[in-house]
Amino acid sequence: MTKTIPDVICPFCGTLCDDLEVVVSDDGKQLLEVYNACVIGSEKFLHSQSKDRVTRPRLHQPDGTWKEISYDEAAEYTAQMLAKAKKPLMYGWSSTNCEAQSVGNEIAEITRACCDNTAAVCHGTTLIAVQDIGLPTCTLGEVKNRADRIIFWGCNPVHAHPRHMSRYSIYPRGFFTGKGQMSRKMIVVDPRVTDTAKLAAAQCTPRCLPGRMAPRFCCRHPQGEDPGSCRHDEERSFRDHLLRYGGNPVAGQEP
Ligand code: SF4
Repeated sequence: MTKTIPDVICPFCGTLCDDLEVVVSDDGKQLLEVYNACVIGSEKFLHSQSKDRVTRPRLHQPDGTWKEISYDEAAEYTAQMLAKAKKPLMYGWSSTNCEAQSVGNEIAEITRACCDNTAAVCHGTTLIAVQDIGLPTCTLGEVKNRADRIIFWGCNPVHAHPRHMSRYSIYPRGFFTGKGQMSRKMIVVDPRVTDTAKLAAAQCTPRCLPGRMAPRFCCRHPQGEDPGSCRHDEERSFRDHLLRYGGNPVAGQEP
């Protein structure tokens, strides 16, 4: 008989959905179904037992094929490669557990390697800003219960955090947001017309102009003209645009 495990936390994105149900086989060794997760979250679980998953070390052959080797052989090959390297770079780590990162950094010290991780092209700038000016923040529960203006800045939750809008930010009915999406207005700041921007009341496109420290913004209703067609005299500060659009109802979602 199968067994259903409730209240499982999805390990993929920052939405951290904690309402997943996972069905496993009688002996607990096979994962059969995942309920409540988005397509990315489901794949994260189901792919762990995929037949094409690489679970053993492999060595690339001159003819382009891969040969499976033992862990000892893989360690010896890698040690030789690092010992001969002049400027090794240890890069990645974002999907690596803490213990493995610790060992990797020890090896980097021994081999005098440079270390970098994927935050260099992702959340690294966020952390620099946090160190420079601090971090105004709140819980996602507060967002759900209180937020009536949502600004998605440089992100596309429809694709990257698929349940963010349904669990916290746009659709759920909260304590002070009892009308759900009717109580909220969404503004997207992004140079691309993303699927999130198509749902917003307004999309703002930042433009950095020569001689100006702060970027100016073109704003448009997503159902309207392309942001590239915004006339120069419509470029305003982001605050001006917020005042302009902040009082208007979400397109097609008037209370
Ligand atoms: S939105 Fe999807 S990927 Fe992200 S935590 Fe929830 S189920 Fe997982």
